[in-house]
Amino acid sequence: MNLSTKILIGLGLGVIVGLNMGAEGVNFAKLWIAPLGAIFMNMIRMVIIPLVVSSLILGVCGLGDISKIGRIGGKTIAFYLSTTAFAIILGLLFGTILEPGAGLSMPGADVKTAAKAAPPLMQVIVGIFPTNPLDAMLKANMLQIIVFSLFMGTGIMAVGERADTLLKFFDGLAEVSYKIVGFIMQIAPIGVFGLITPVVAANGPSVLLPLLKVVLAVYVGCFLHATLVYGGLIQFFGKISVGKFFKTIFPAQLISFTSCSSGGTLPVSMNCAKELNINKEVSSFVLPLGATINMDGTALYQGVCALFVAQIYGVDLTMGQYMTIIITGTLASIGTAGVPGAGFIMLTMILTAIGLPLEGSALIAGIDRILDMPRTCVNVTGDLTACYMIHQSEEGKKEEPLY
Ligand code: ASP
Repeated sequence: MNLSTKILIGLGLGVIVGLNMGAEGVNFAKLWIAPLGAIFMNMIRMVIIPLVVSSLILGVCGLGDISKIGRIGGKTIAFYLSTTAFAIILGLLFGTILEPGAGLSMPGADVKTAAKAAPPLMQVIVGIFPTNPLDAMLKANMLQIIVFSLFMGTGIMAVGERADTLLKFFDGLAEVSYKIVGFIMQIAPIGVFGLITPVVAANGPSVLLPLLKVVLAVYVGCFLHATLVYGGLIQFFGKISVGKFFKTIFPAQLISFTSCSSGGTLPVSMNCAKELNINKEVSSFVLPLGATINMDGTALYQGVCALFVAQIYGVDLTMGQYMTIIITGTLASIGTAGVPGAGFIMLTMILTAIGLPLEGSALIAGIDRILDMPRTCVNVTGDLTACYMIHQSEEGKKEEPLY
């Protein structure tokens, strides 16, 4: 039996046990079952910082030599970042319209204070730059950690050979962090059981509708992002019909939907790019980079889920917190690895950044695989759209060296 099925079973069992506990079982669930979930969440928290720091640094270093990448690199990154920011805004919009978390409440934490008055904009901007990276890590200040990691990555890339040891160190750290996530995920079925049982015991069957709404919001959002943004770009600026474009990339969409891995789909995406007659110089740069840093579906999912968690804790997000979600989410997409479930870990980072309890993501953990499928499909569709658009904009300029 694969892990996702086990996690789903953990979720299902938690719902059944929670529903059958009745009012008198609420305290038992809180005292004896909730700790299983707490241990699981603590372990996830444990790995967030090494994972984010190392994967962001590698993401930046993966760009290669910035000065050499030049024109194509600039276009690719502009395309990726702007569509990702749009996706996260779309996610927030769907989270606001559908209100998946409304009417559900998580026991325990009182986080109403999280929505404090927004500090002045300049103060927010100044606050993003850390004076002491270790302090930022101790306080889990995600934006500061991201800024530090971006500088660290750029520095390593600029220094080149002499920083090889550091690069190898972070490469090792990233691999080890992924491994640890793998270990932790082995106990996810028990963790999810421990997290959901007390919630269902306290809320009754009303907990199921919100989860369905999350699934609906992510699927509809992903579908709209793919048709409106990618379809629209191809329709208005592409020299190919939208139908033909989507038909040609369908194999990559199918593999990404079922494998939940942009990285694993890369060979198929490369093949689709070939079918689209995309210049190899473009596809061999844009697609691997996209599989590592371009995650529109993940960003959209994070927007929906962050709102879901805010809603179940009854927190009204301030404008500043919305901005933090958009900025952190867009940057987090650079650090999200193209492997199954990576987006969920990054979601916990966004929750930390806006001061929401990570326990809120427990409900999401149970259905994460179902949400991973459409988001990975959108991630890959975005990579291929970027690849096609950039190829087209480069046509006729081939006589100039690309790198
Ligand atoms: N599975 C996604 C991908 O490979 C990442 C995520 O978990 O959001 O693109």
